Amino acid sequence: MLYKLVYQINLRALYIIQNKISENMKTRIGWIGLGTMGIPMSKRLLDAGYPLTVYNRTKGKENAYTEHSVSVATSPAELIEQTEVVVIMVSDDQAITEIFTGANGLLSTTVKEKIIINMSTVSPEISKEMAELCLKQGNHYLDAPVSGSLKQAETGTLVVMVGGDEDVYQKVKPVLDHLSKLTIRVGNTGAGNNAKLAVNTMLAIMSQGLAEVVLFAKKNGIDTGDLLNIISQSAMGNVYMKIKGEAIFQNNYEAAFALKHIAKDLRLAKQSGLKSPLGDTVLKTFQDAEGEYGDEDIIAVIKKLEKDKVYSL
Ligand code: NAP
Repeated sequence: MLYKLVYQINLRALYIIQNKISENMKTRIGWIGLGTMGIPMSKRLLDAGYPLTVYNRTKGKENAYTEHSVSVATSPAELIEQTEVVVIMVSDDQAITEIFTGANGLLSTTVKEKIIINMSTVSPEISKEMAELCLKQGNHYLDAPVSGSLKQAETGTLVVMVGGDEDVYQKVKPVLDHLSKLTIRVGNTGAGNNAKLAVNTMLAIMSQGLAEVVLFAKKNGIDTGDLLNIISQSAMGNVYMKIKGEAIFQNNYEAAFALKHIAKDLRLAKQSGLKSPLGDTVLKTFQDAEGEYGDEDIIAVIKKLEKDKVYSL
């Protein structure tokens, strides 16, 4: 009964936020997490006219906004007090726990009627836990992880997969549309996370596949540039193969998507029930590579495979 009443009050508040978003674009957005993805994504919202307040655990990252005017909050609590929609883009479940339940976390405030969109790749379990706590607090939670990397973040061509209440989703879809070429609601809380874990398992399989065949061909005297050219012009040529093929060719392993993040995602997929021949294989490969190459790009897996002489003929 109480739950129903809270839900109805929250729904009314949602209409207010929706009208603000669609009428004058002046909804103040709070952005938590100024990493590889967070900075370019939040800049897209600034370019679209949304006023922005940012928070990052490590200070100094806010200096990235030289061409824009942004407010800087000193804690997640201060940020949510000043904004209507909060977007979070941080590493993992632990970061989410600290941002929500820490001493000056989002849940330490008495604010109500806010929408919190968690775009980080995290477990469906943490989303369900935080969504329930938000609802009790009088706020709303959506999980909305993304597919795509730095380039897609910069150009607003990410794919966003959303889990949560349909009405809440509709209110903030205009915001998400500025970040994406496709925003799609795939189910209730946690469904966005599960969709993302499936997509990233595929990403890991493709990355290891590319790395293995490059090494295999090289061992047999095929020039790496020639092989990558053949792959990119073949039916298997796609944007991902082209970008990562180019990285291998240029010997450029600077993280666009850090290898440690895919290792984390594969662990989450395992927790969510993934048990398959390729799933098990990529989990082992990326976990083994994480210690040495975790801060480099996902495709640095090729260095680990080469080092381990997977193709000693
Ligand atoms: P990143 O560059 O490593 O940035 C991580 C962010 O999380 C930083 O702002 C960091 O703050 C913050 N953070 C980490 N631990 C924290 C904690 N305990 N408390 C508060 N803040 C914390 O990561 P990213 O590449 O932007 O990725 C962010 C998320 O998007 C990850 O879940 C990743 O899996 C996912 N993702 C990434 C890509 C990609 O291509 N990069 C693509 C799709 C999805 P500090 O500055 O203080 O360390």
